[in-house]
Amino acid sequence: MAYPDTYYARTAADRKTRPPLQGEAQCDVAVVGAGLAGLTTALQLARAGLHVAVLEAQSVGFGASGRNGGFVTPGFATGGQAIAARVGEEAARGLHRLSIEGVEFVRDTIEALAITAAMPRAGLLSVLRYDDGDALKAYAEQMARDHGYELQYLRTEAVRSVLKSARYHQGLRDPNAFHIHPLNYLRSLADEIERLGGTIHESSQVVQCDLSGTRKMLRTRQGTVRASHVVLATGGYTGPVFGQLYRAFLPIATYVMVSEAAPRLIAQAVATTDAVGDNRRAGDYYRLVESGNRLLWGGRITTRAASADALARELRREMVGTYPQLAGLKTELAWSGLMSYARHLLPQIGELQPGVWYCTAFGGHGLNTTAIAGKLVAEGVLGVSDRYRQFAPFGLSWAGGPAGLAAAQVTYWKLQAQDWWRERRASAKDKVAA
Ligand SMILES: Cc1cc2nc3c(=O)[nH]c(=O)nc-3n(C[C@H](O)[C@H](O)[C@H](O)COP(=O)(O)OP(=O)(O)OC[C@H]3O[C@@H](n4cnc5c(N)ncnc54)[C@H](O)[C@@H]3O)c2cc1C
Repeated sequence: MAYPDTYYARTAADRKTRPPLQGEAQCDVAVVGAGLAGLTTALQLARAGLHVAVLEAQSVGFGASGRNGGFVTPGFATGGQAIAARVGEEAARGLHRLSIEGVEFVRDTIEALAITAAMPRAGLLSVLRYDDGDALKAYAEQMARDHGYELQYLRTEAVRSVLKSARYHQGLRDPNAFHIHPLNYLRSLADEIERLGGTIHESSQVVQCDLSGTRKMLRTRQGTVRASHVVLATGGYTGPVFGQLYRAFLPIATYVMVSEAAPRLIAQAVATTDAVGDNRRAGDYYRLVESGNRLLWGGRITTRAASADALARELRREMVGTYPQLAGLKTELAWSGLMSYARHLLPQIGELQPGVWYCTAFGGHGLNTTAIAGKLVAEGVLGVSDRYRQFAPFGLSWAGGPAGLAAAQVTYWKLQAQDWWRERRASAKDKVAA
């Protein structure tokens, strides 16, 4: 199976393909899905000396993990307050610390494996689209107090000196967050798993399984694997073969585009190597790639995949609305990917029944959370910790099927309308003040 046509696939450091599973195989742990969640789990288990086999329906990084924005930042797909409302302040702080540990795992792994094709570029700039510096300062103080995590507050002039847009107000810079080429990172994880004796089979969709008993069975079209443990890491591409997981998530599409090479034009708008995101609930995020030669721009979500042309138009409208000076910047490539969301918006991590593990539903915040999930599930399989239980309050409840999707779309439209209204009010206030 070829990769989808993304910027990352076009600039991948290697084009290695892996043969499908054929015949009968045995292993300690079988992992389904070669995205970040599956491969991080497999890597940790292979590092501990277990024999792992990874089954991937398409190719390594075919899913969200090979198509995303590449932002590696702490946190989850929902905010700390919503998490605390469900599990209490102390448990919410513990989860946030895990999310920071996920960021550090990615950084450490890149360093340990010397992944030069995915070298981290430091810095995330989160900016407001309305004037509310006090709220940002309060958030930065809370992060420093609760986690010793330092965020730098930027006044509006400082933000606009690097992001040349009248849309932006104050911002927070996270010097610890970073951005990477996610597909190159993932492919290096795959190489390392193989170097440690693991096997990875592409074009090996699991079409049938028997997860009862001490030896579980997974069947693909051409082969069968038996293992003591099975890890399900199929993300937004989970199919009905894994019924309980399938019913517990909503597949949500989101979009990225990459511009033509136009470094001088781009520099008239974006003069920072930091990754940038705005504060809307489903806002824009973007970063320079190829040392500022091109601009990678992401945003929007839909519950049904839109055509590449339509989505590129939407993203362009956003980009030019923020930076009118980029009206002439051509889009070279646009693509979408599916994220997996649970109704509670937190990852689903745990043991379904003895020896059957799941780690999925990372939403739009997967680079750090898949890393921590892989670590926790591996610790659970090895029996060295039960830290995965911190996610027990966020189980596999039914996501609502088509009605759940419709509700998610309506919620998104409502959030967009609220964002629009908040900005309009702020800009009316700005005009009065001027
Ligand atoms: C466009 C986009 C931009 C994003 N930007 C960011 C970002 O900047 N920062 C961030 O933190 N997060 C981001 N995310 C979210 C992040 O990419 C995901 O949360 C994360 O990659 C999910 O990883 P995963 O391993 O769970 O799933 P995936 O990467 O989707 O992997 C699941 C794999 O399972 C395979 N599979 C499914 N069913 C079977 C089966 N039956 N048999 C075998 N294999 C199967 C699929 O083929 C797929 O390869 C973004 C997501 C998208 C789509």
